[in-house]
This record gives sequence, C-alpha cells and structure tokens, in this order.
Amino acid sequence: MTTSTTSNKDLLARRDAVLMGTYARPPIALVRGAGCHVWDADGKEYVDFIAGIAVCALGHGHPAILDAVTRQAQQLAHVSNLYLNEPAVLLAERLIGLLGHDARVFFCNSGAEANEAALKLARRHGRDLDPAGNRLEVVAAEGSFHGRTMGALSLTHAPAKREPFEPLPGGVRFVPYGDVSALRAAVDEHVAAVFLEPMLGEAGVIPPPDGYLAAARQICTDANALLILDEVQSGMGRTGVWFGHEYDGVVPDVLTLAKGLGGGVPIGACIAIGDAATKLRPGDHGSTFGGNPLACAAALAVINTIESDGLLAHVTDVGDRLATGVRRLVGQVPFLTGIRGRGLWRALTFDQPVAPAVEAAAREAGYLVNAVAPDAIRLAPPLVLPATDADALIAALPAILHAAARVTANPEAGGRS
Ligand code: PLP
Repeated sequence: MTTSTTSNKDLLARRDAVLMGTYARPPIALVRGAGCHVWDADGKEYVDFIAGIAVCALGHGHPAILDAVTRQAQQLAHVSNLYLNEPAVLLAERLIGLLGHDARVFFCNSGAEANEAALKLARRHGRDLDPAGNRLEVVAAEGSFHGRTMGALSLTHAPAKREPFEPLPGGVRFVPYGDVSALRAAVDEHVAAVFLEPMLGEAGVIPPPDGYLAAARQICTDANALLILDEVQSGMGRTGVWFGHEYDGVVPDVLTLAKGLGGGVPIGACIAIGDAATKLRPGDHGSTFGGNPLACAAALAVINTIESDGLLAHVTDVGDRLATGVRRLVGQVPFLTGIRGRGLWRALTFDQPVAPAVEAAAREAGYLVNAVAPDAIRLAPPLVLPATDADALIAALPAILHAAARVTANPEAGGRS
C-alpha cells in the first residue's frame, strides 16, 4: 500500500534537476512508515533496520511523538532564543536527571552543531587555562566521524571528507582509536580537549578495547584537558543503556547528543558536566531553532516512552537475540565472519568488500540495512524493534547473502542500479 501519487522512477527522474548531488542513494524513495516498517513510492514494504541512521528510536508514526508534537504545535511551536520556553527546561532537566550529574545543556539541531558547540567550549577551556592561546589544540581519533560543518569536519578523520575543504579550523591531532599510549603521548600542555566516540560509528560500529575510555578519562584528568564524548549515534538507548559511556563507568566533561534524541524531529544537545558547564558565557553561542519547543516536546516523548515501555532492557534482549542468530550462521553462509556492537547498534562483518552488494540484496528482499564500510553492514533499527522482525532478518540472511554472492560472482547479472 502507498499513499504516494508518484513512483520511485518518477521521483528519481526529477531528483537531479532540483537536489544537489551530494548523496549516492539507492534507487528508491520512501513515502510512508508505520512502526518498524516503511514503504517506497512503488508500494514495496521494507523492515527498517537503519531507522534514518539510528534516529527513529520509536519507529515511524509512534503515537507518543505524534501526540506530543501535535499538542505542542497547537500551543506554541517556536519562540527563538530570545525567549525561554518550558519544554526546553523540562528536557534539560530530564537529560541531566538521566546523566545523574550536575550539568548544563545547550540545545541545537543536529549532531554536527552539537559538536561545534563542544569545540567552542573546548577553545574557551583552553583560553581559560592559557590566555596567551597556547592551549587550544584538540585530540581526536582516526576513524572518527563528528559531522560535516567546518568545525566538526576538522575533528572528522576521513581524508576524503576533509581534504577538499581545507583549510579547516586547525590544531587537531589524530591518534589511533583504542591506543592508550598514543593518546597519552598526544595529550600534552597544548591540548584543551579530547573528542572520542564511545564506539566508532561511521567507521563501522567498532567498540574500543576494554578500559580505553577509562584510560582516556584519566589522561584528560591528569592533563586538565576536557574529555568530550560524541554520543550523537551511541546515545539515547541505542546500546541498551542511556549513554554508551555507561559501559565504561566514566564521566565525561562534555557529551553531545542528536539522532535518536528527537526520534525523527531534528534536535541536538551539547551537555557540559561540572566545571565545564560554565565555560560558554553569555553571547558565546546561539541558535535560532535550538531548543525549539516542538523538538523538545518530541524528545521528551522519546525519553518518557523509552522509560515507560522498558525499552533499554528490550534493546539489550533483541540486540542479543539478533547477535546470537547471526553468529549461528557464520560458516554456513557466504562472506559472514561475525557481528560486533552492542544493543541495537551492530555491524555484520564480511571476509570481502561485499557490503554494497549485501545492502542491495537485503533491500530487494525487503530489509533496509546500511553498507557502513566495504566489509560491514550496519544495523541500527528502531529501539522498539519486535523480536519477530529480528528473527525475520536472521531467517532471510542466508538467501540475502547467497543473492549477494551471485551478483559478486557475476556483476553483469545484477547489483546496484
Ligand atoms: N557524530 C557522530 C558520532 C555521528 O555518527 C554523526 C552522524 O552520523 C554526527 C556526529 C553528525 O550528525 P549530523 O548528521 O546530525 O550533523
């Protein structure tokens, strides 16, 4: 069933005349969603195992978000940063309550913006320590992704994403992710902050070695540098806990959130804990839309539903079920070597760079997944994913991988159109 009056073919034909060619996308347009399922413009149904890149925490069309956004739109949709609004205060109170530490929140609209705020905060910290400006450098990780705006891009490692846009804001040193010695050597008297993801997301859902974040915490404390954790993808229940860093028992100085926070309504947050909360001063930063009542109401609905429906435990259960089912297939199907990650944030790993072919075969079979790396498929479904949908993907995987193997063996016969 589709509510669309158009088709995939029609939309694809019109696309290039009106949209900038920034994305290489599969040949479908999505027009409708309900729960964990979406439909394209031709009426084909898919189980959504990517959720708008780890965004649609409650799936599509969840009544709690619909109700919250509708009520808020009727009452007051936008006031700008000229005025205070109640949902922003309520949401900040909720987030700080979940963190369990004294903190202050700056709201924005995306992950990149949350990291921009954190970067400015780091610069303030560095200048507070050394007004002469010799303490403004930042350490980030190889394989990291922090966003595409110029500041966030300066923290993002991939050369192909950065180099065409250089010069970027300077003073960023990259160290191998997971290497404690390299991090310790890099954090010297010139460094104001360390930016890390609790697990590398865009590099392929790669957890760090045990103890890495705890060591990073200690290194930052010893050097009086801020530990800034980018939880844009890992946060808001994605791994079965509210924030990915809970697994490591560390408390960051700054935490950035976006993606799942609004369940599909754009919102980001930069949360500073303890002394870091006073770094940005009046006039230092701002956003017209940040903390918009509509987006904050959606985020409150997401948090309330995760809590009331016991979704953190659900994420752990269904994520483990998925991982167990996938691991049972290793050795029995082409390419598959394993599954990594936590909760409902996983990557299927392959012994060859076949992920694009697997993504296409999965789509053909009615499953939306993401070739996050040449040899890895990312799964980041809604947190409400029913066990039956997880089981369905496990049951479908052998046929999907065999189809990908046929295409890989004979590229003329199929593949990405
Ligand atoms: N940080 C991380 C860890 C991300 O995964 C992403 C997006 O994938 C971003 C930042 C950028 O977020 P946005 O696309 O909302 O700007």
